[in-house]
Parts: sequence; C-alpha cells; structure tokens
Amino acid sequence: MRQPLIGITTAILLNERAGAGAEFYSAYTANARAVERAGGLPILIPCDLSDESLRALYDRVDAILLPGGGDIDPAAYRAERNPNTGKSDARRDHAEITIAQWAAAEQTPLFAICRGHQVVNVALGGTLIQDIPTQIESPYDHYYTPDQQRHAIAHTVNVESGSWLATIAQTTQLHVNSLHHQAMEQVAPGLRVTAYAPDGIIEAAELPGHPFFHSVQWHPEDLTAAAPMQALFDALVEAARQRISS
Ligand code: MN
Repeated sequence: MRQPLIGITTAILLNERAGAGAEFYSAYTANARAVERAGGLPILIPCDLSDESLRALYDRVDAILLPGGGDIDPAAYRAERNPNTGKSDARRDHAEITIAQWAAAEQTPLFAICRGHQVVNVALGGTLIQDIPTQIESPYDHYYTPDQQRHAIAHTVNVESGSWLATIAQTTQLHVNSLHHQAMEQVAPGLRVTAYAPDGIIEAAELPGHPFFHSVQWHPEDLTAAAPMQALFDALVEAARQRISS
C-alpha cells in the first residue's frame, strides 16, 4: 500500500527583508514531524490557490491536517469584529473553510488543531468567542507560554466518556498546553463537543457518523513526548490508510 499523504494547510507570512510585499508560505514544523513519525507523508497545501487547484490537490491527499494560526475573520460567522481579534487572511480562511466543508461532506479523514478546531466550527455553521480574556471569567490563562515554552501545561480538560478522544486517551482527564485567545462559542449543527476545560471552554469536538473528523483546541504537536498526544496523529494516518484500502 502506498504511504498515506497527509495535506497540511499553510499560512502566508510577509518577509519584507526579502523585498517589499514579499510573501512566503509558512507551516509549523512540529505538525509535519508528528505526521511523519506516525508513518504518514506530510505535504503542504498553499492557501492562495484557485478553487480548482485547491480541489485537485485535496483530491490527491488521503487526509487533512488543519493546524494552528491566527484569527478567522468574524464575518465568516456573521459577527462584528471584536477589537481584540487579530488580523485575518481571507485567502487562508477561504481555503481552510472550503477544505473542512469538503472533508465533512465526503468522509475525508481530518484532524484539526487550535485555529483548525475553530475553522471546523465556523465551516459547519458555528460561532466563536473572539477574546476569552475579556469575554469569559476564568481562573485559567488560555494563552499560557511561561518562558515562551509551548509545551507548558496550562489546564486540564475533561473528556466525554465514550468519545473517540476518550478511547484514544484511555482516560477522561488530560493535561494540555493552551495557546489560544479564541474558542468555539455556538457549536455547529452536527458537531459533538468531546472535551471541556474546567472553566467551560470547549477543547475538543468530533463529527459523529464521519469515519474520522476530530479537532482539539490545544497543541498536541508540542506534547508528543507525553501520551496520548502522538497517538492522535497516529490515528489520523491510520484513518488515511483505511481510506486508501477501502
Ligand atoms: Mn485552553
């Protein structure tokens, strides 16, 4: 069997040192490494392709990984922009929302992280809390990077028993990092929340009836030394394998 090809979406970053207005594709290396460790072949998807090219590339991959990133334009979920919402990129929003909708409708395995978790909710009709610190009373810091350490444990999450996440984790409580200031608000129709932080923030979701469509608000790619975080990537690649052989 051929090795599963896992498409990872990218951001576009300006690098003015390379020239005025010079843009570069950008992807966090830890995601591709976690996919490779799982036995998959990571491939990066540019986010400013035409819909035709995006579709052709999507058709070539066996599964999708939507990684972390900046804020989604609140217009995508019919909300006024909160002053604390960051700059958004319409090209990336469009590409990722489109891919999430295709994957949901067509049974394509998908795993989404942080921004990706939020993209999935918006793509399927949900809304977002735009700024947790100013909108939600919480004893937790959901943007927790002491000494700039991305793997620092910020809070626990309570996992719904019977969910895919509980099965993979073999526990209903996880210790996670947290590098987000937005979160799922109204849950999209059809999505099932599978984990909450103790303050009520939605930390994981899945799409029932889909072979593999899961999202987490934390960053498992920074926690792969601790069980069960690498297993989440392993499961994505395994789902891609099953899709190839079916
Ligand atoms: Mn969190």
